[in-house]
Amino acid sequence: MKGQPDLAVLRLGHRPGRDERMTTHVGLTARALGADRVILSGEGKSQGDTIEDITERFGGPFAVETTDSPVDLLEEWGGTIVHLTMYGLPVQDVIGEVREEFERGDPLLVVVGAGKVPWDIYDQATDNVAVTNQPHSEVASLAVFLDRLFEGKELDREWADAAQTVVPKAEGKLVEDADETE
Ligand code: SAM
Repeated sequence: MKGQPDLAVLRLGHRPGRDERMTTHVGLTARALGADRVILSGEGKSQGDTIEDITERFGGPFAVETTDSPVDLLEEWGGTIVHLTMYGLPVQDVIGEVREEFERGDPLLVVVGAGKVPWDIYDQATDNVAVTNQPHSEVASLAVFLDRLFEGKELDREWADAAQTVVPKAEGKLVEDADETE
């Protein structure tokens, strides 16, 4: 989001035939809730088009990137690395420190897995963070983490260059095209 240090989400791995929607939803959730970019790895690299389509329609800025070497990416990351895992420390106990580092200007990389996450990642992470110590989903854990990081402020962000804007309504649906409002 505007004015913040770099906030990237790394989607580690992707199981073809099983994770298509999950990988797309990791990207859409990252975009909607305040990250600047998503980095897709492995077989998930092909899932970027839908996320880019949504950014073109509903605005940005938000970037979709890919990597062939997530381990190198983590090694070279010059900031905080949060790995979301059910085995980590409770988000409510560590989020204050993570937020302080982020607000001080440290870039933040949030890593979510697909299948089994290699042990190296647990070592490379600055923080292994759990959203409850119960198994659930990378999309849910990412959403809760980002909302806790921003303390809800991401819900009021502005979007640039949207071709379409949803007008909030108590009933029904209203979507305005940018060329109609110009
Ligand atoms: N068994 C896998 C493992 O060994 O990591 C878990 C796979 S889980 C379906 C996919 C991803 O969801 C995990 O890699 C993690 O990023 C996220 N996840 C699931 N439950 C979580 C929790 N309670 N807290 C934080 N992240 C979680």
